[in-house]
Amino acid sequence: MTTRCCDFCEHRCSLPPGGRGRCGIRENKGGAIVTVNYGQLVSLAVDPIEKKPLYHFLPGTGTLSLALHGCNFSCSFCQNSTISQKEFFERRSTEAVAPADIVAAARKHNCESVSFTYSEPTVWQDYMLDTARLVKAAGLRTVMVTNGWFTDEALSRILPLIDAFNIDLKGDDEFYRQQCGATLAPVLRNIARIAADPDTVLEVTTLIIEGIHTADGIVALGKALAERGVAVWHLSRYHPSYRMKLRATTESFLAAIYDRVRTETLIPYTYIGNSALTDGNDTRCAACELLLITRKGFDIQDDLLDFGHCPSCRRPVYGLFTGQHEINHG
Ligand code: SF4
Repeated sequence: MTTRCCDFCEHRCSLPPGGRGRCGIRENKGGAIVTVNYGQLVSLAVDPIEKKPLYHFLPGTGTLSLALHGCNFSCSFCQNSTISQKEFFERRSTEAVAPADIVAAARKHNCESVSFTYSEPTVWQDYMLDTARLVKAAGLRTVMVTNGWFTDEALSRILPLIDAFNIDLKGDDEFYRQQCGATLAPVLRNIARIAADPDTVLEVTTLIIEGIHTADGIVALGKALAERGVAVWHLSRYHPSYRMKLRATTESFLAAIYDRVRTETLIPYTYIGNSALTDGNDTRCAACELLLITRKGFDIQDDLLDFGHCPSCRRPVYGLFTGQHEINHG
């Protein structure tokens, strides 16, 4: 019996016969590594695509969102700990849902995409890819919401089958080591590779935690994202969750960071989320600043886009919009 190495994420766990990886769901069974909860869904729902959040990918459409149990990080502030963290994992007796059944459910609910989300799809990427292959063959699109800590070889498998990513960029390297049990460099490496892919939409999200993050640190992250070609960044307001007991980030702290990011980084589209602030939800033209898409919560109130272009100055808006087949990279 042989020890095997899992290449799904940068932990690259070495698994002796019968051993499980850090995520708790990858196991060496008889010399082959398997995902023990393959197909056993813990969440299935129809969401507005804006909830991922994705603001530049088919806005106003529904996405069938699903998750299996498991994550490769141990973030103390996890917003979905009961479906991601090992301590809540129980071997489920539910039957696996076949990838073909996911396609049928997406069609039944008139969803234009299927999203792999809520927990960390990197650790159940075999099920994600089996499903994504059928989803794309059916003419629908695919979304991965992820911490972006996959290996380079995993990304080579994933990239051709995922149309849009939202990657969580959590903080600087010290933050990753202290709060998540991970490191920053692979996330930035993968962001750069995805941002350079002409067939993929990329948006990035950062949860702003007052008391840990600083405005200078967030601006530095924004500059790192801009250098790697990121066009869309969501700054999301932290609320206490799981083991982190810090109070919720104040609206004033979030607003001050948002102002600095807009003036000091070159990211053309920045948004705020989980917030009562009304400024920061709408899309403006990056050239002439015309208000293009107005949102209230996850609802589109107004959409002036003309096939992905500003109706005034004609600048293409980054992303994929209704009526388009090609992604705008302008
Ligand atoms: S997915 Fe990551 S954490 Fe899980 S076994 Fe593989 S390398 Fe380890």
